Amino acid sequence: MSMVHFVGAGPGAPDLITLRGKLLLEGADVVIYTGSLVNPKLLLDLRRESEVHNSAKMTLDEVVEIMKTAVGQGKTVVRLHTGDPSLYGAIREQMAKLSALGIKYEICPGVSSFSAAAAALKSEYTVPGISQTVIITRAAGKTPVPKKESIRMLAAHGATMILFLSAGLLESVAKDLIAGGYGPNTPAAIVYKASWPQETIIRCTVSSLAKSAAENQISKTALVCIGDFLGDLYHLSRLYSPDFSTEYRGKKE
Ligand code: SAH
Repeated sequence: MSMVHFVGAGPGAPDLITLRGKLLLEGADVVIYTGSLVNPKLLLDLRRESEVHNSAKMTLDEVVEIMKTAVGQGKTVVRLHTGDPSLYGAIREQMAKLSALGIKYEICPGVSSFSAAAAALKSEYTVPGISQTVIITRAAGKTPVPKKESIRMLAAHGATMILFLSAGLLESVAKDLIAGGYGPNTPAAIVYKASWPQETIIRCTVSSLAKSAAENQISKTALVCIGDFLGDLYHLSRLYSPDFSTEYRGKKE
């Protein structure tokens, strides 16, 4: 049916798109992809006649114009966003314009880069006894962050923290993290291009974040992960403990 599908492309590796996303992509008449971050390998299996646009050099109105024209011609459009579209995907404004034009749209979720980073680190973000909360945020850059969500304030929780869009701002990020409450030696990691062939993992501490990024010439396409989940200590999960019964398993005597 003629409509727009916002599709999460996954973090980079072309086999980390969802099956649904892949099928939508293969059925699309028009594909508009975020050229700066979507792996172009995902575009290899499109139908030969499908029309492809890179949104990296387009404005919101130009993107919407392409969608409007295509849907008007009875075509199906896939708007391919990196990771999962719900995080820093700027889809809200596109959806608002489509609604105003009476164009139907749906969203197909994707594997976010924060999941790919955990996999690359072979880590669990929510380790019992350490942290049961993941804070996903970013440093304020061109896009401001609400005052109550400043890194300094969020740091007070000492929870697992994942920073998007912040790899170029680590000097001030580290200052805020420490001022907010993380110890300078709290373990940290920078994950560059998770799931891409160039994937790089740098393990460091909060106080050495900026130096580690500079030494490895990383200033973008990276996630910054902070917290004791990266350390050696944790408690065993109650879920698999023999003295703990669940709906599915009785207590072992
Ligand atoms: N919707 C995307 C995020 C888009 S914002 C998602 O769910 O992943 C772009 C930021 O995401 C980048 O600046 C970087 O911080 C992060 N990012 C995207 N892909 C990445 C990857 N493969 N590895 C590490 N960070 C990534």
